[in-house]
Amino acid sequence: MQLKNIFVSALALLGIHGQMEAAPSTGGEGKDLFREIVYSAKQTVFNLNAPTAVDAVTGATSQSAGRSPHVTLRIYDRGEGGKAVKTVRMKKSGDNRWTATVGGDLKGKFYTFDTSHGETAGVFARAVGVNGRRGAIIDLRDTDPDGWAQDVRPALKSAADLVIYEMHHRDFSIDASSGLEHKGKFLALTEPRAIAHLRALGVNAVHILPSFDYASVDETRLSQPQYNWGYDPLNYNVPEGSYSTDPYDPVVRIREFKQMVQSLHRAGIRVILDVVYNHTFDIDGSGFQRTWPDYYYRKTADGKYSDGSGCGNETASERPLMRAFMLESMKYWATEYHIDGFRVDLMGVHDIETMNLIQHELTELDPTLFIYGEGWSAGTCAYPLDKLAVKAHTLQMPGIAAFSDDMRDALRGPFSDDSKGAFLAGLPGEEESLKFGIVGGIAHPQVDMSRVNYDKQPWAAEPTQQISYVSCHDDMCLVDRLRASIPGIAQDELVRLDLLAQTAVFTAQGIPFMLSGEEMLRDKKGVHNSFNSPDSINHLDWNNLTRYPQVFDYYSRLIQLRKNHPAFRLGTAERVRRHLRFLDAQPCVVAYALENLQGIDAWNDIIVVLNANRQPTVVTLPEGSYTVVCSDGRIDEQGLRTLPGGRVTVAAQSALILHK
Ligand code: CA
Repeated sequence: MQLKNIFVSALALLGIHGQMEAAPSTGGEGKDLFREIVYSAKQTVFNLNAPTAVDAVTGATSQSAGRSPHVTLRIYDRGEGGKAVKTVRMKKSGDNRWTATVGGDLKGKFYTFDTSHGETAGVFARAVGVNGRRGAIIDLRDTDPDGWAQDVRPALKSAADLVIYEMHHRDFSIDASSGLEHKGKFLALTEPRAIAHLRALGVNAVHILPSFDYASVDETRLSQPQYNWGYDPLNYNVPEGSYSTDPYDPVVRIREFKQMVQSLHRAGIRVILDVVYNHTFDIDGSGFQRTWPDYYYRKTADGKYSDGSGCGNETASERPLMRAFMLESMKYWATEYHIDGFRVDLMGVHDIETMNLIQHELTELDPTLFIYGEGWSAGTCAYPLDKLAVKAHTLQMPGIAAFSDDMRDALRGPFSDDSKGAFLAGLPGEEESLKFGIVGGIAHPQVDMSRVNYDKQPWAAEPTQQISYVSCHDDMCLVDRLRASIPGIAQDELVRLDLLAQTAVFTAQGIPFMLSGEEMLRDKKGVHNSFNSPDSINHLDWNNLTRYPQVFDYYSRLIQLRKNHPAFRLGTAERVRRHLRFLDAQPCVVAYALENLQGIDAWNDIIVVLNANRQPTVVTLPEGSYTVVCSDGRIDEQGLRTLPGGRVTVAAQSALILHK
C-alpha cells in the first residue's frame, strides 16, 4: 500500500533496502530508520542517516573545506562541557547511512555525531544531556515507573466524547496559590490536588503544550524564572528538561514524564501532546541540518529557506525521510510514552498525504489515537497549496480534526484585531458563523455558508473533525478579549459572557476544547502573544477559585451536562442533520432544538438558546412541558424550574437550556 512506498523511498535513499527488510523483528520497516543508537550492556551500535557522497536532494556534495564527507562519533562523560573520551570514525553502511559499534557498557555516557556541519545529537535522540546538545546512552527500561507495564489508555468510544483541556506546565502550577509542590514540572500532574481539580472540572483529555525538548529555556539556569511556550523544537523525541526535577540526569525527565501520563491515566484522563514538526528552533544548529543539509527544509524558487512557520524555516513533510520521521516520532510517543493523541502545530505546513499516512498508521496502532491540528500556516509555504493540510482540505483527511476559527471568531471577534468584538459583544452578523460551529463544521441545510465569516464551503465531513473553542494559548484569553472588545465591561457582565461563550462551545457538536485556567476566570493582563511573558502574566491564580466560585461551578456542571447527554455529541454528520434544527430568533440570539432523541438520550427533545444581547430576549417554543436545566448563569440537570413553552424569556447575556 501507500505506506509501504514511503518507506521504500526512504530506504532506497539510504541504500539499505536489503538490510532493512531482513530485520523482521521491528514490527514496521520504518522503526529502524531512525534508531540512532542500539544499546546493550555488551556494546552500543550507532547509526546515522547522512549523505555519504552527493546530496540526494540538491546534488551538491557534502564536502566541507576540501574534506571528503565523513562522520565522527564522539563519546563524552558529561552531557555538556569537557572533552570527548573516545572518538570513532563511522563507516558507510549504505548510500547515505553511517554506522559504528563501540564495545563495552556505555550506559551513562553521552554522544554526538560530528559531521562536517558540526556536532549534533542526531535527529532522533531518545535521551539527551542538559540542554539537549548531546545524546545520552541509557537503557530505556530504567525510565519506566513502577506499574508502567500495567498503564492503559482511558477508554474512548468516539472522539466526540473528548473534553480537551489545553495547558502549559508552568502556567498551571507555578504560582504559590496552586498549592502544588512540583511547580512548573511534569510531576505537578501527579499530585492529588491537581488531579482532583481536573476530575472535578470533568475534562477527560489534557493537551500539554510542547513538552518535547525545546531550545529557548536554559536548563542550566532553572533557579532563575524563565518562560516559553516551547514552540522551538530541538529534540523531538525527548521530554523537555526544564519540566523535570533534574535536567542533567537523562533518565529523570523521561521517568517523570511517564509518571505524569500514568497518573493522568489512572484518573481517566487521556494525554495529548502538542507536536511541532513544521520547523526547528534554528537551521544551522538543528540535527536535521547538521546531518543532511537542506534535505529536511523547503526552499523557495529563488533558493531561500521558505518560512511557512513564521519562525524562520519550514520543514518538508513530503520528502520521504521527513515524512517517515514524523510518523515514527508520533508512533514512538504513542508506544514508549503511552500518549493518546496529537495536536499538530501549523498542520497547514504539512502535506495532506503525510497527514493521512500518519492517521492511518496511528489508527492501526490504536483506533482511539486522535489527531487534530491547526489548519493553517503562519506564512506562505514552498509547496502547492492544493496539497497542504489546511482547514479547507479537512474533507480530504478523514479522521483528522481542525480548529474552528470560524466558531472562535464568531464568538469573540477576529484574530486580526483584539479590540473588535462579535457575537459575545452583542454585535449582530456572526449568528450564521456560530451556527456553522454548532453543527461541527459540516454541511447543514439551515446553515447559509454565504454568510459564514471565513469558509464558504463546509470543511468537515463529520462533526468529530471540528475542534470547538473560543480561546486557546494563542492570542488573548477569553477574559482579556472580552475586556478589550467591550470597553467598560462590568465584572458581572464579564462573568455572564464568559459562561455564555463556553456554553456555546460545550453544547456544540464538534469536540470541545478549553484553555487551562478559563475555569478560574484567568487573565493574562491583556497580553496577546504571551509566548515568553513572565509567570506574572501567564500563571493561573488559583485564588480565583474562591473569588469566582460560580465560574468553576458552572464550567463543571456544563461539562457534566455534555458528558451525561449524548445529544450534544451525536458524533456523525448524518445524525446532526437529522436531529439538530435551528429555530427562528432575534439578532444576537442563536436557538436550536435537538429533537426526536429517543434511543439516543434520556431526554427526548432539548432546546438551547444563546442570547448575547444586553437585554432579555423572547423566543417562541412549541407548547409542552419543559424542564429548565440551564438559565441565567446557573445549571442544574435535575431542573431549575418548569415551563409550558410558548413565549419564553431568556435573560440577558446568558444561555437557556431546557428539555421535555
Ligand atoms: Ca530544552
